[in-house]
Amino acid sequence: MSRGSRLAIVGLGVNGLCTAWALLRAGFAGELLLLDAFPAGHRRGASQGEERITRTSYETAAFAADARRVQSELWPALEADVGRRLVTLGPAVFWGPESGPLPSYARAVAEAGGVAHALTPAEARHRFPTMRFPDAERVLLDPHAGVIHAAETLAALEGWLAERGAVRRVATVSALHEEGEGVALVLADGEVVRAHAAVVSAGPWLPRLLPGYTKTVVPVRQHVGFWPMEARAGHTPAWVFLAPGGLHYGLPTLGGGVMKAAFHATRAEPDDPDVVEEASPVSLSAVEARLREWFVAAPGPLLRGETCWYANVAEDQFILQRAPTHPHVLVLSACSGHAFKLGPLTGLRASAQAVQLLAGGA
Ligand SMILES: Cc1cc2nc3c(=O)[nH]c(=O)nc-3n(C[C@H](O)[C@H](O)[C@H](O)COP(=O)(O)OP(=O)(O)OC[C@H]3O[C@@H](n4cnc5c(N)ncnc54)[C@H](O)[C@@H]3O)c2cc1C
Repeated sequence: MSRGSRLAIVGLGVNGLCTAWALLRAGFAGELLLLDAFPAGHRRGASQGEERITRTSYETAAFAADARRVQSELWPALEADVGRRLVTLGPAVFWGPESGPLPSYARAVAEAGGVAHALTPAEARHRFPTMRFPDAERVLLDPHAGVIHAAETLAALEGWLAERGAVRRVATVSALHEEGEGVALVLADGEVVRAHAAVVSAGPWLPRLLPGYTKTVVPVRQHVGFWPMEARAGHTPAWVFLAPGGLHYGLPTLGGGVMKAAFHATRAEPDDPDVVEEASPVSLSAVEARLREWFVAAPGPLLRGETCWYANVAEDQFILQRAPTHPHVLVLSACSGHAFKLGPLTGLRASAQAVQLLAGGA
């Protein structure tokens, strides 16, 4: 990678920031230009909010293996670099009808060499007495899970990158054009910025910037609620109810005494990420009904709701590839609702491909 190379990263959610982190760690000596439509700490994309689940149980062995690697190697590396704790480890539990994805989770974890203990519902209730596990035949206990300090992770990354000279600009990229041996980024105010290559990690806005992805990447708004409940990170498990029609999940918030919960909406018509809409007690009433069913003590009245974005790809897959229409643009869409935990690993992979692209490799 030449000292004079200039790389632009468009989109500074967890994936764009982790890509920049991995590049600088690997000794990237060129100019790194970081662009986001909004200032640091904004709440408009997929990465905002205080916390996310980390877990090592997944439906496929590939994701289970990645989740183990990122948790054991890369989150600790990121924590060491920024000098802050970013993950509170704790258990997670998974249950649901055997006709749903639960059996695949058990198989995938075993195939990936991971650990998920199968408990009877009675054993699970004994271990986690706030939960009921109704109608479950078995409960999977993932001992290697926990809560990621999401907002703190983004803030720590922003600070670490700024200290190392990465230039961050608040600017919307409205178009990308191949130009000679590089790419021209047209900003919303008409300014044109040139780079040898660009990584586009624009979350739910990706299809707007690169319309070739309109059919593969579907932005879907998520409604998330926060209820007063007995919950403490590191002790109360993160939980996932796996049903054939989709999953519900929840986790204790970092402040304690509050449960964050939602339905993981993956099948829906595309929404417009520029339209701001609040979650409401009505949009969250079905989730609240589930909490009443699954927890021994009923939740208190909804404290607040939030919306957030998934950029759904079939089978919750990630995209990391050169844009077919733009050979100097690397597209990173790891946004199907479960990518925060994998951010440092996704960033590592994206950084390796960006270096290859700058070096002119295929
Ligand atoms: C409600 C909810 C709960 C979740 N729970 C979990 C969980 O428990 N565990 C887990 O691992 N994952 C979870 N996820 C998923 C995870 O948070 C996302 O997959 C991840 O944050 C995606 O990050 P990103 O960087 O790809 O996208 P984003 O965070 O959306 O970042 C994209 C950025 O690009 C910028 N941008 C877009 N277009 C342009 C443009 N044209 N010019 C300049 N900038 C632009 C945006 O402003 C934005 O900052 C959850 C997601 C949601 C919404």
